[in-house]
Amino acid sequence: MTQLDPIPVTDEATPPVVTRPTLPEADIDPAEPSLLSDTIGAERTAGLTAAVQDLQERLDGRRIVDINSTLTGGGVAEMLYRLLRYSRGAGIDARWFTIEADPAFFALTKRLHHLLHGADAPGPALDREATTHYAAIGERNAQALLRSVRSGDLVTLHDPQTAGLAGPLRHAGVRVVWRCHIGTDNHNHRTDQAWAFLRPFLEPADAFVFSRAQYVPEWLADRQVAVIQPSIDPLSAKNRPIDSDTAAAIVGRIGLRAPTGGDGPAVYRRADGSIGVVRQDPTCLYSEAPPPADAPLVVQVSRWDPLKDMAGVLSSFADADSFLDGAHLALVGPDVSDVVDDPEGLRVFESCAELWHRLPTRTRARVHLACLPLTDPEENAVIVNALQRHATVVTQKSIAEGFGLTVTEAMWKGRPVVASAVGGIRDQIEHGVHGILLDDPHDRADFAAQTGGLVKDQSRADFLGAGARQRVLEYFLDDRQLLQQAAFYRYIAAL
Ligand code: UDP
Repeated sequence: MTQLDPIPVTDEATPPVVTRPTLPEADIDPAEPSLLSDTIGAERTAGLTAAVQDLQERLDGRRIVDINSTLTGGGVAEMLYRLLRYSRGAGIDARWFTIEADPAFFALTKRLHHLLHGADAPGPALDREATTHYAAIGERNAQALLRSVRSGDLVTLHDPQTAGLAGPLRHAGVRVVWRCHIGTDNHNHRTDQAWAFLRPFLEPADAFVFSRAQYVPEWLADRQVAVIQPSIDPLSAKNRPIDSDTAAAIVGRIGLRAPTGGDGPAVYRRADGSIGVVRQDPTCLYSEAPPPADAPLVVQVSRWDPLKDMAGVLSSFADADSFLDGAHLALVGPDVSDVVDDPEGLRVFESCAELWHRLPTRTRARVHLACLPLTDPEENAVIVNALQRHATVVTQKSIAEGFGLTVTEAMWKGRPVVASAVGGIRDQIEHGVHGILLDDPHDRADFAAQTGGLVKDQSRADFLGAGARQRVLEYFLDDRQLLQQAAFYRYIAAL
């Protein structure tokens, strides 16, 4: 291992961000992995059950613990809850905690996030002061966490926000994995900058997980690294079946489809078995009037992050108004005040709102921006589910993407997807078979032409949607990820 520079840890200038005896912990209801059998079949279910049981025996009471920076909003939070449910259902003592930090810390880690994607990232300097602050936050969170984890437990730290915990946890005898959900195939001076900052914090970790082999930096060449792609849960509120009338009613309830006389209730079954009614309005809605019930709807659901390029989708749509054949566009993201680790959300949303105001009247009537509340995550998930099902075409015009769960989610619903050929999206879609891949994520004309083409060509849209669903069934459901994780944890537990 490389000799490390000592990381200065100081209390000076560090606000008391960790305010509780231990870190905030997610409440997770166990779910039996066998619940998946109707979707994945008996053989896959048996393989999964055996692998998870075997892991449970080998762990012999040790815990599996995940740490990230938010319980809601974004793909990591989305995935953790479900994977931990199934682990718990199989008898594993699996926990999920989130770190506590101040806005300066999250501004710094958001910059690291962009740099790891190889993207330009204005923001705090990655200097000695930033290193000191980052180390202090990591140390404090690790000390708080050590009230809940024991030596020998397996802790997975997710993304740049948590790397500072690796050293202190390792020091206390915890097995530490760092999992990175972001990355780029084209390493450049920006990725180098981010790794130079993070590397001293990460060196102590036992092993690493990335979503694509191409994301692994050279300095990890002789370390333990696994590649595990994200996946979705077909039974979650986000992905379980909703009939088309109910989906339409839910989309209508949030103002993205005009009501008709025959609309049913906007209801769904909650995880506890009760009937939920979609009640909350978007926290922000820019829309002149809801799209007519029969208008084709192009939908992109993303965090308000510059790399998701919501503004680019909006501008492409405006440029190519006539292409899109009467279609409406809905850009939907989380409430900008709710995602604590994403300080850019408000700015990105406001810039989209400004573009919306400047659209010609005729175009503006066909473009809709909505922020969904996260106060009831189950209701939020059901709304996203309904929107993805109701969409004529789902887009993901990202400039960079670690994986792109929204793409998998739409594919599972049999929707035709138009997405940029960036990052993990390339692993999900084979162009022309499971969706449309756009070579240049900045090419707005191509984006509009491909999206408009699918709006008009129902049989091609159906073909791509069917291919997409099959692709997800084969490769991107949670049983595959749980199996890979079980094999990986077995290995780490034996280290
Ligand atoms: N999402 C959501 N509500 C929103 C916006 C996004 O539940 O208002 C979810 C989305 O359905 C997906 C996740 O957040 O499950 C985003 O994951 P993805 O991998 O696409 O991107 P990330 O945010 O992790 O960069």
